[in-house]
Amino acid sequence: MNAEIIAVGSELLLGQIVNTNARFLSQQLAGLGINVYFHTVVGDNPDRLKSAIEIAQKRAEIIIFSGGLGPTKDDLTKETIARQLGKELVIDETALASIELFFKRTNRVMTENNRKQALVLAGSHILPNDHGMAPGMVVESGGHTYMLLPGPPKEMEPMFLRYGTQALSTRNKSNERIVSRVLRFFGIGEAALETEIIDLIDAQSNPTIAPLAGDGEVTLRLTAKHVDENAAQAMLDELEKTINQRLGAFLYGYDNTSLLIEVMKSLKERNLTITAAESLTGGLFQQELTSISGASSVFYGGIVCYSNEVKRQLLDVQEETLKTHGAVSEQCARELAENASKVFKTDIGISFTGVAGPEELEGKPVGTIYIGIAIKGKPTIVEKITLGGTREANRSRAVKFGCYFLLRILKESQNAN
Ligand code: ATP
Repeated sequence: MNAEIIAVGSELLLGQIVNTNARFLSQQLAGLGINVYFHTVVGDNPDRLKSAIEIAQKRAEIIIFSGGLGPTKDDLTKETIARQLGKELVIDETALASIELFFKRTNRVMTENNRKQALVLAGSHILPNDHGMAPGMVVESGGHTYMLLPGPPKEMEPMFLRYGTQALSTRNKSNERIVSRVLRFFGIGEAALETEIIDLIDAQSNPTIAPLAGDGEVTLRLTAKHVDENAAQAMLDELEKTINQRLGAFLYGYDNTSLLIEVMKSLKERNLTITAAESLTGGLFQQELTSISGASSVFYGGIVCYSNEVKRQLLDVQEETLKTHGAVSEQCARELAENASKVFKTDIGISFTGVAGPEELEGKPVGTIYIGIAIKGKPTIVEKITLGGTREANRSRAVKFGCYFLLRILKESQNAN
């Protein structure tokens, strides 16, 4: 099977937004074993959209559209496809009911335009929109599968993952189920990870293995096909076991999780509280932690200790430490983590101190970072890392490393018990 992605929207052509939907969909389709040979971007113009559809019909079996399902006049994806396929647009009662409910709940007046969002291609399979109003849809015509998805990524992505992938797998004539699992790794680069499993990658057929690197992390999407979903899951279990034997130390989670979500889960499971003393990261760890709902059960507060005065006065870092070793040092990271957990009376204190760049500090090169982790009743651990990115990348990578070290310690102490 091969697919073409058509992103509709003049704002894409004007360079006002980046076509991240095509990237997301391509990644997902690769994982499903569906080849994507072309990405097309077309403005909000029915004639040009029509010609984009005609071209795609010649070279793809599956044509996926994103954007143009909204209520305004320039949202014309459905209308153009309907005309092209000779299909009618009909109201989908379920979608209409949920749009009406949304307006009632938010006390807003629903206009005739909003009804338009409940129009779907006659005979299509509806993809519910759990995060917005316009439903997506899949329709078969003339040997092609057309999938229409909304433009906003926060609506499109969950719709595709939850309903779209399943709709595509039913197109598979052999009735095979396609099951995917994403393994998330941190602390190892893409090249090193691939080297460890190169024999598995070279020999892959079913399940397939698709590596993807981004922002300090590497993911492996494993995809198995089988008529029986349980059998497909068992195939993934077996492959995961083999991968785990080689790379288990770097595996931190599955599918749509993140290092911070895993830290939160881990702290909650163990009933532990945490605080942070952040110099290098200026509150980034705390900001990211509190962006996860439910953070209040593990986090009460922390300190941004950017200057040496604050380190001394609020966190009791010794004058001698700063004078002899400097703020960017193992000793300082240790005192920051230990004293923060005392001040905030938490089980864990984590500290970040280092040189974000672009200038060196205290004679230490850019990217020198110390992360302290003090856990009640255990010896404090300070990890030194050396990063080579920009100021922004070094700070955000430091937060990730902090989470990774903390997860590792929590896991090790659980295994030791
Ligand atoms: P709405 O109901 O919000 O109008 P829609 O399905 O009609 O949804 P568009 O109007 O085409 O979608 O786009 C809405 C917003 O979605 C855009 O302003 C943009 O922020 C985002 N968006 C659209 N297409 C893409 C794309 N290909 N990649 C990333 N973001 C996109």
